Amino acid sequence: MGKLGGYAGKILKVNLKEKEICSEPIPVNWISRFIGGLGISFKLAYDNASPQKDALGPENVLIFGAGPFVGTLIPGACKTTVVAKTPVSGFLGISGTGHLGMLKFTGYDNLMITGKADRPVYLKIDDDVEICDASDLWGKDTWETTEALWQKLGKQYVVASIGPAGENMAVQASIIVNKYSAYAQSGMGAVMGSKNLKAIAISGSKSISVADPERFSELMDKAYQQSIESQKETINVFREWGTLRAMGPPISQFGPHEYKNYSEIVPPDLPYKFPLDRFMSEIKIGDISCMGCPIGCKHLIRLLKGDKAGGSMAVSCLVGGFHGFAAHCAVEGWEDAIRCDELCNRLGMDYLSAGAAISFAIELYREKIIDKTDTDGLELDWGAADGVQELLRQMAFGQGLGKILAQGLNKGPQLIGKNSEKYAVHTRGHAIYYDPRRAMSPDLFSDMINASGDRFHAPGWAGKAMTKEFLIKHLGMPPDQADQAVTDIKGYGLARFAKWAEDNATMFECLGQCQMPMHQQVELRVWAGLYEALTGIKMNGEKLLQAAGRVWDIRRMFDLREGRTRKDDSFIARRFVSERLVSNCEEHDPVSKESFNALLTEYYNERGWDPADGAVKQLNNDNGFV
Ligand code: SF4
Repeated sequence: MGKLGGYAGKILKVNLKEKEICSEPIPVNWISRFIGGLGISFKLAYDNASPQKDALGPENVLIFGAGPFVGTLIPGACKTTVVAKTPVSGFLGISGTGHLGMLKFTGYDNLMITGKADRPVYLKIDDDVEICDASDLWGKDTWETTEALWQKLGKQYVVASIGPAGENMAVQASIIVNKYSAYAQSGMGAVMGSKNLKAIAISGSKSISVADPERFSELMDKAYQQSIESQKETINVFREWGTLRAMGPPISQFGPHEYKNYSEIVPPDLPYKFPLDRFMSEIKIGDISCMGCPIGCKHLIRLLKGDKAGGSMAVSCLVGGFHGFAAHCAVEGWEDAIRCDELCNRLGMDYLSAGAAISFAIELYREKIIDKTDTDGLELDWGAADGVQELLRQMAFGQGLGKILAQGLNKGPQLIGKNSEKYAVHTRGHAIYYDPRRAMSPDLFSDMINASGDRFHAPGWAGKAMTKEFLIKHLGMPPDQADQAVTDIKGYGLARFAKWAEDNATMFECLGQCQMPMHQQVELRVWAGLYEALTGIKMNGEKLLQAAGRVWDIRRMFDLREGRTRKDDSFIARRFVSERLVSNCEEHDPVSKESFNALLTEYYNERGWDPADGAVKQLNNDNGFV
């Protein structure tokens, strides 16, 4: 194992209850079957999480993973993931960030945390691994925690911490890395809190070897040419606007987004409440990059409101805040939108999940299903930012109505009763970005049937991948299958497309590669060549995708063991199947349950799963590739 390039070769295991720390080599056949990073984490979760136990109980396992590309010079090779049974749905949850790659430099590819500490602790990982007392950190927000650990240990440590939301196990709780980048969705911060684990501080200086440096450097140039050199225009827009680019080029339309808990279509004038010239001249201070990425699509921005006004904060995904607060809750203006983002970062909460829960509460209040007696006198309304910010605090600290909302959109409505689930818009508890009544794209379909947290399954492939050539060269689709995917994108092709996009996205996550649109322009054969030159393992695109499919299968097997059925996959929020979506300029019918179910059967067939119940018949292509 030690001879392979790319991999550190070891899994670090920490049992917080027994205070046991050990490391084990990654079995070679795991690498051949599950690639690395996310794939190894899924395998560890399948083997080590006790089935049918509470996601917030001590039997759950929390696993971080960094793939073989992480820490190399490949542009965008920085993505790490965390997985655990999620308290949001009770199935396997996933979240990712580009800022915990330091794990590789400590000599580990994966970190598995089991048990629950008997008091608040943090984990210090450098040349040694130590479980340290965190009593003085408990109760602090993520910024205070990170600053305190930097003061104690030095700024060379990357700090992943939880805030009050994680401590109080709100299902919207995230893990915040270095005060800004989030393992956002799927409640991983709550799982960390359930283990009394306040933070993980990591600093490493070990190196990563390359099996064939000459070939690796040749292919690196190729990857750089395809993702950076030939994408200069796209990169400039990304650098300028970051993820805000998703709002239109740039922020010219909010068109594809939900508004007011999906009760309306985003009005065309909403972007004017967020003037771009002001963003550039008064708010944005600079660009930030994930580890080793030459693009830098994150920002340093000025804070305009609240106790830190005049100061600055780094933001990773500004578009997430727009979805959560400007779109879901109709908050208007930079001051309040940024203040909501800042509160989320400090409290340790995910923008989208928190915004979705609050928009649900606002609608309940307006429909008189709840009133001031339920909100402790707080008035709720669309765009009333003070109410939104107060609910964020209540959710994080487990107080008032916030305590119920912190249970998520699955359990929260059950606690409220009064037919309130009618207004809960989610997929098995997870908030979703887009409204399927407007358009069912392959990535939205994937998001709806596979919801497990961060929507990395098939991000943005659909927009550009409509040519047969792209499907073959980039997604690795066989030519005969690509024909149908192109010509029948609303029917059979959509389910097929979703499957191939998922496998590609899974491959990226297992390798540790960012899959922003620029990186998606690199051909599959280049990725496979880079893997081969880096690790010394003979590889081609087909084999990489087969392994990614197997990773997807083991994720499915975890969920089936937890009781997942076809009924879970075919769940569509009531609003989407019962209400028309109407505005002055457009109208859309509800989603047809029959059509959705037909797509689901096609999807199961594409995956080779049982079309009746989605059971995995045989772990996908179970012949290893080593
Ligand atoms: S493109 Fe953006 S998200 Fe991707 S690695 Fe680079 S800075 Fe990070």
